[in-house]
Amino acid sequence: DARRPIAVVGLTMDIPLTTAALLRRVDTLFAHKAIVSREADGRLVRTTYGACLAEARRLAAAMRALGVRPGDRVATFCWSHARHLQAFYGIPASGAILHMLNVRLPADDLAHAITEADDSVVIVDAALWEAFAPVRHLITDRPFVVISDDGDVPAGAIDHTSLLAAHEPHEFPEPDERAGAVLCHTSGTTGRPKGVLTSHRALVLHALTQALPDMLDLSERSTVLAAAHLFHANGWGLPFSCALVGASQVLPGARLDAAGLVELLESERVTHTAGVPTIAHDLLAWLDAHPGHDLSRLRTMLVGGAALPEATIRAYDERHGVRLLHSWGMTETGPLGTLARVPSELADAPADAQYAWQATQGRPAPLVEIRARAEDGTLVPWDSAAAGELEVRGPWVASSYFGSPVAGRPQAVNDTWTADGWLRTGDVVTIGPTGAVSVIDRAKDLVKSGGEWIRSAALEALLLEHASIAEVAIVAVPHDRWGERPVAIIVVAPGHEAPTLHDLHAHLADRVPRWWRPDTLTIVDTLPRTSSGKVRKALLRQEVSPPR
Ligand code: ADP
Repeated sequence: DARRPIAVVGLTMDIPLTTAALLRRVDTLFAHKAIVSREADGRLVRTTYGACLAEARRLAAAMRALGVRPGDRVATFCWSHARHLQAFYGIPASGAILHMLNVRLPADDLAHAITEADDSVVIVDAALWEAFAPVRHLITDRPFVVISDDGDVPAGAIDHTSLLAAHEPHEFPEPDERAGAVLCHTSGTTGRPKGVLTSHRALVLHALTQALPDMLDLSERSTVLAAAHLFHANGWGLPFSCALVGASQVLPGARLDAAGLVELLESERVTHTAGVPTIAHDLLAWLDAHPGHDLSRLRTMLVGGAALPEATIRAYDERHGVRLLHSWGMTETGPLGTLARVPSELADAPADAQYAWQATQGRPAPLVEIRARAEDGTLVPWDSAAAGELEVRGPWVASSYFGSPVAGRPQAVNDTWTADGWLRTGDVVTIGPTGAVSVIDRAKDLVKSGGEWIRSAALEALLLEHASIAEVAIVAVPHDRWGERPVAIIVVAPGHEAPTLHDLHAHLADRVPRWWRPDTLTIVDTLPRTSSGKVRKALLRQEVSPPR
């Protein structure tokens, strides 16, 4: 054959998608952009990306001097501040893996995460040294680096400031794009926390997608305050998407209380914030009680991690002119999975129709694919009615758990992945004709009465519209005749009389089938929640179940 051979692979440069590449951009173009950080003593410290990255390079050099090799885990046990952010940048870009420990995990879960990760070094806030005490014995032979404001660190620990000062910045190598970059354990709402190890490539693609106009709409003009801690789900991906586009960042330290957040939102002219529904709820109550605050710069408030009630979306818009952006995700999905930005078809629709859309979990992000499977194993139609377990796949979705004996071949033993490699989310959903997902429940939280499902999330949302109810959880208790029956556990709204079961039934009349109505009402002072604000229903279920 005399034909000239032609190329069949793409003739494109094969530049690895790594956090090191992502950081090169912010360093060359946006070194002057601000990073504002609230430190342990409450001071606001102003720095820049340029200074932050120089410190991140010193940190990389220091870790190498302490014996950390590529692929080793470096744990952080820190609040959300600039020196924690430096670790997000310096550790993965140097080839090691950043293991963010959730400072609110119970000690036995924390011990599990540390043992599983086999961390080589632990970086701890001085203010959290005591909180770390119950698990410190697990890592006696490894160095502790302590971040303190005054250089006063516990005996045997290394002072972070002097450590960095003793090292020259280390140029970031070019890690393999498929190498692990960050390790984050899930918050353990339904069982032991599971380790999710995300690659460089996944972090970069997640960051690119998160910044898109139909997603968070981030740009160099944005100022972002994450009201979700850096130790949750890769800091919700925000450290990387902000760096990618050069957005300024505001780090709230340990304080996520409403007054402290509003102060920063106003003084730093924040354009984008993100947090769990509990935070949105607290912030709303505070704003209602303290009129006269100017949040006009705030363009986006992303709310995710648990279901956002439509009543909250409406209240923000009507009373404070703030549009909430509801999003669904898991640690296993990077976390960005779906997001409910009002589509162009609804741009001129009445406010009610827009609120209803915003209260769904929204459509999948670009490159994320979804489907839902009914109990009989068939895929459900996208008709907003048929319910099934949500399955997802995408380039930043976990393909197995860290340390699991089946890493690399998850389908063999692990029921979290389907045989064809999709992640089974454990969330029961309906999907609308245009792809809007509505989470009905977690599979384990559903109430099955007389063979029929009661949608506890929907019931909770309706009950929250009752003026005297501040918080509510519906849980299933065993019932001889019906299998399971719903119990309502509520926290009474301040200044209101506790409602009776009769009041609840009157409120629900004509809105839900009769058999959905809770049989019992329990009043509590607070609902037990996980560190990420999710109600611990398994615990509640134990507490309210009659002994058998
Ligand atoms: P854990 O599974 O231990 O709670 P995650 O923080 O990863 O840890 O939680 C992911 C879960 O949170 C999802 O599977 C889902 O049940 C819930 N979730 C997240 N976002 C939403 C949302 N917008 N609406 C309802 N549930 C949500």
